[in-house]
Amino acid sequence: MPTKPIDRLMFVQGGLCFFCKQPLPKSEASVEHLHASANGGPNADGNCVVCCKAVNALLGSMSLKEKFQVVLNQKGQFKCPNGAGSTAVDEPVKDPPTLKVVANPGDEKFSLVVANLKRRGNARPRTLKTLTSTVAAIVPKGTSDAEYKALVQRLLSTGKVRVADDKVTYSL
Ligand SMILES: [Zn+2]
Repeated sequence: MPTKPIDRLMFVQGGLCFFCKQPLPKSEASVEHLHASANGGPNADGNCVVCCKAVNALLGSMSLKEKFQVVLNQKGQFKCPNGAGSTAVDEPVKDPPTLKVVANPGDEKFSLVVANLKRRGNARPRTLKTLTSTVAAIVPKGTSDAEYKALVQRLLSTGKVRVADDKVTYSL
């Protein structure tokens, strides 16, 4: 077992900050006495955690009651006030796949149509008329005529489908 308290606590905490659970480089690590030494807290492992220096400085010699308040105010998403612990935690929230769908509900159907046409290989519709009825068959039930015609237009305008003399060619 490591002998220095900071190394021991790092080992016990799996190298993560006690508060924000982010990987803690040793240069950023410091030992926090939960019951502050200034208030008579013991210097034993049972009273100590290793955490980001920034949060240690913030907590300082607050009473246990005040420290609890700080921790509880984070509502389960504790971030030490140094920014180091913020990146990994934020990403799932920032990633907006649902927002994209809301911004343009046609996107999902369009990808569905393109994927379906890709799968058809040489069995793709050869005329604009059959392409239109094929698209109508691919999209989910309840899609309006205007909507699947718009999808056909979009295939043309994006260059995925080209029409010459009523013959359809694909570059999907
Ligand atoms: Zn931290």
